[in-house]
Amino acid sequence: MTEIRDTVILGSGCAGLTAAIYSARANMKPLVLEGHEPGGQLSITSMVENFPGFPEGIQGPELIDNMKKQAARFGATFQLAHLDRVELGVHPFRLHTSAEEIFARTLIIASGASARWLGLPSEQALIGHGVSSCATCDGFFFRGRSIAVVGGGDSAMEEALFLTRFASKVTLLHRRPQFRASKIMLERVMAHPNIELRTNTVVDEVLGVEEKEVKGLRLREVTSGDTSTLAVDGLFLGIGHEPNAKMFAGQMDLDEEGYIITTGNVLTTRHGVVIPGVYACGDVQDRRYRQAVTAAGSGCMAALEAEKYLEGHGH
Ligand code: NAP
Repeated sequence: MTEIRDTVILGSGCAGLTAAIYSARANMKPLVLEGHEPGGQLSITSMVENFPGFPEGIQGPELIDNMKKQAARFGATFQLAHLDRVELGVHPFRLHTSAEEIFARTLIIASGASARWLGLPSEQALIGHGVSSCATCDGFFFRGRSIAVVGGGDSAMEEALFLTRFASKVTLLHRRPQFRASKIMLERVMAHPNIELRTNTVVDEVLGVEEKEVKGLRLREVTSGDTSTLAVDGLFLGIGHEPNAKMFAGQMDLDEEGYIITTGNVLTTRHGVVIPGVYACGDVQDRRYRQAVTAAGSGCMAALEAEKYLEGHGH
C-alpha cells in the first residue's frame, strides 16, 4: 500500500518549520519538503534581533536550526526534494518530486518568496558580509556607515528611507531615469538630506570579495558607459521579490504578482472558492509584512487549520 501522509509541508523556512512544530505535536507526522533554499530567507541573514524571546538576538541560521530540531523532536521528517508538479484536483493530493510521487491528505504551502539579486558573482560572494536584501533585518549593523541601495520601486525607496536611521549616507542607484516608485515615496527620498540619487547607473561589481566585506562598488553610467568607484560599507538590494508559487498557477488563485491569495488568513481558493485541505502561509502569500514572526504566526494557523480539517474527515 502506498503511504498517505496526513500533511506535507512545502518549504522549510520560518513558516514551514512552525507549521511542522504544530502539526508534529498534533501527531500528524508531517513531511517537510525542503526546496532549493532550505531554511528560507532567515538562513541567509546574519543576526536576527526582532524575533521575540532572544534578548541578545540570534543568528538566522541558528534560529532555523533550532526550529528544525524542535519539529524533529515531535516527529516531523525532512526530505530535500524539489517539487515538480502537484495535483490538487484529486484526493489524496499527489505531489510529484523528481524522485517519487507523494500522497497527502493536506498540503501546507510555505515555499516563501525569493529576493531578487543582481546576479553578480561578487554580490553573491558577499551576501551576509555587507550585501543584504533586507533593510529591516540588517540596517542596524550599518550605524554611521555609508550604504548604497539598488532599485527604483517602492521597496528601494522604503529601504533607503529606513536606512537613513542608521547610515551616515545612502546612495540610491537606479538603472533608468524614471522611477516605478509612488510619487510620495520618491518625493520623500528626494527631499532627504542624507540620500543621494543616481539614475542611469548600474552596479558592475561589488568590491571586497578578498577581504570578505563590502569595500565599495564599481558603477557604470549606462548612457555614457563611464565607470567609477563608489566607496560604501554596505549594499542593499531593493529590486523586488518573487513568490515561489509558479507551480500552482491555474490550480489556485494568485494575485497579479504571483503571490497566493488567501482568505481567512491561510485558506487557499480557486476561482474564489476555498480549496479544502490546502493552506498557504509565510511570504508566498504575504507581500506586506514579510517578517519572521508573521511567517511563524501564519505557519501556526495553517497547521491548526490542517489539523481541524483532518479531524473533520475522521483522521
Ligand atoms: P518593483 O515595483 O517591481 O520595482 C523593482 C525595481 O527594481 C524597479 O525599479 C526595477 O527597475 C528595479 N530592478 C529590477 N531588477 C533589477 C536589476 N536586475 N537591476 C537593477 N534594477 C532592477 O518592486 P518593489 O519595489 O518591491 O514593489 C513591489 C510592489 O510592492 C509594488 O506594487 C510596490 O508599490 C509595493 N510596495 C509598496 C510599498 C509601500 O507602499 N510602502 C513598499 C514596498 C513595496 P525598472 O524600473 O527599470 O524595471
